[in-house]
Amino acid sequence: MPTIRLDLGDPQQHLLAVTIELEARTPQLRLRLPAWTPGSYLIRDYVRHLEGLEVVCGDQPCSIWRLGTASWQVDLAGRTGEPLQIRYQLLATELSVRTCHLDGDHGFFALAAVVLELEGERWSPYRLEIRQPPDWQAFVPLPRCSEGGWLARDYDQLLDTPLELGPHRCDSFQLAGVPHRWVTWEGADRTSDWLGRHCPTLLADVQATAQACCSLLGVGAPASADYLFILHLLDGGYGGLEHDDSCVLVYSRASLLTAAGYRKFLQLVAHEYLHQWNVRRLRPAELTPIDYHQSVVVPSLWFAEGITSYVDQFLPLTAGLGTETDLLDDLGQDLSRYLLTPGRQVQSLQASSQEAWVKLYRADAYAGDSQVSYYLKGAVIALVLDLHLRRQGSALAVVIRALWHRLGRWGRGYQQNDLIAAFAAEAADLEVLLPHWLQDHGDPDLAGYLADVGLQLLPKSAQSSWLGLRVKADPAGLLVQRVHRHGPAEAAGLAVGDELLALDGERLRQGDALTSAWAPGQSRELLFCRRGRVRRSSLTAAAAAVESWRLEPDPAAPAAALERRRQWLSLLPA
Ligand SMILES: [Zn+2]
Repeated sequence: MPTIRLDLGDPQQHLLAVTIELEARTPQLRLRLPAWTPGSYLIRDYVRHLEGLEVVCGDQPCSIWRLGTASWQVDLAGRTGEPLQIRYQLLATELSVRTCHLDGDHGFFALAAVVLELEGERWSPYRLEIRQPPDWQAFVPLPRCSEGGWLARDYDQLLDTPLELGPHRCDSFQLAGVPHRWVTWEGADRTSDWLGRHCPTLLADVQATAQACCSLLGVGAPASADYLFILHLLDGGYGGLEHDDSCVLVYSRASLLTAAGYRKFLQLVAHEYLHQWNVRRLRPAELTPIDYHQSVVVPSLWFAEGITSYVDQFLPLTAGLGTETDLLDDLGQDLSRYLLTPGRQVQSLQASSQEAWVKLYRADAYAGDSQVSYYLKGAVIALVLDLHLRRQGSALAVVIRALWHRLGRWGRGYQQNDLIAAFAAEAADLEVLLPHWLQDHGDPDLAGYLADVGLQLLPKSAQSSWLGLRVKADPAGLLVQRVHRHGPAEAAGLAVGDELLALDGERLRQGDALTSAWAPGQSRELLFCRRGRVRRSSLTAAAAAVESWRLEPDPAAPAAALERRRQWLSLLPA
């Protein structure tokens, strides 16, 4: 069995020493470092942090040939049966849920960025050992090994293991007999118990949220037999990454202190916890098994992320920790963002899923005009699917449970057609409608579906004319951040990065001076700078546009719609 030894050395050097020990079994051995980590669809080329690779067999150094940027071949001729050591170091200076970070305060390691894939050892069990400062603890979502350290049943389980190390406090609770650990790194050198002082009910609220996830799935206990939450509580940031038996969360201390921020935090917890079913065990066929070395097109990411993003908003409410008004606010914000994304008319939901690697994960200032997030449109289609299924006496939760029972719990990957069939089994017309919603660019009948539950979407118009651009005040000047496709700023020749200098001969200093007292149809002379050259143009304002949408109860809704709304808010079918 290969053994992985991680030595943190002096953490302030940010260098992780890795040693892999195994027995030489073949004349040649190929080694490859993953290029990405599951759940985060971007080629990250982790190899850029690797240094000092050497291989020793018996006590002799071996010849190593580089086959590619992240792959090598080791010559072991005549040494089969001898002990083999592969050694290298990794610079751990990138703090995110999918990278590695080591300093005097803590260590965090996404093992896809750390452990080489050894040819022929994908399905072998692995033992993990860690050497760390004496007052630190390792928080590892793996079973203990009788010989010391931890045991992963294969390379995939090893790579699905985030490691948090440090002098942190760890809390725990049980849910249906399943142990859950909660470890927080508060961004300081010693745990200050900021969380305990400011959010005293957090652990109980997390437990209630986790219970609500199980209830949604219609299961008595979570899919994991031992679950670890890792929270990085920092001065900013938001995000999460799902694993089979753990999740990693990043959240801002300031956000956690507001009521809306605390609710969004519980939604994030619910989201990542739900992923232990949806996407981890109930997994797209394209990720079964996972190719860690190249991008993999997954047409059904809209189901993995969109469905999860939709239901996560309900779970604080179904856990007894939110209100109907909060939920309508949150859903309304999503619908508003969706309706204000022109890119939804350019990129379909299925294309958004397929292009995750090159579009959503590499979005730039022009992205809003050419793409729509599969999280966002996926959540909108999840809402529409839920309300459509309710017309047939079913619900989204029924389909999720059926997919879990038929495919997920057996670890059978699903194809897009399996999803469509599962929805069509509850409402036959979805066999045609769902592919249409996935592949077309039009909007579903949102107003009609929302009316079913006595809700309406109300537009709010901006108070000033539309210029089709967004600017930000920067020490370098008043810089253009976004130029809307087919808008007035684009017609005036403006581009992202331009510095706005003067309007009608008056020096510009503040963003709000741009739109004030500018009638629709009125043209004004704009002086701007691009690549060090000053230019002149005429910018003509258009009529005020819708700046947001609100989801509101319809006061004229009939009693039957109110009853349907009550049922819908529970996420369960009537
Ligand atoms: Zn997710």
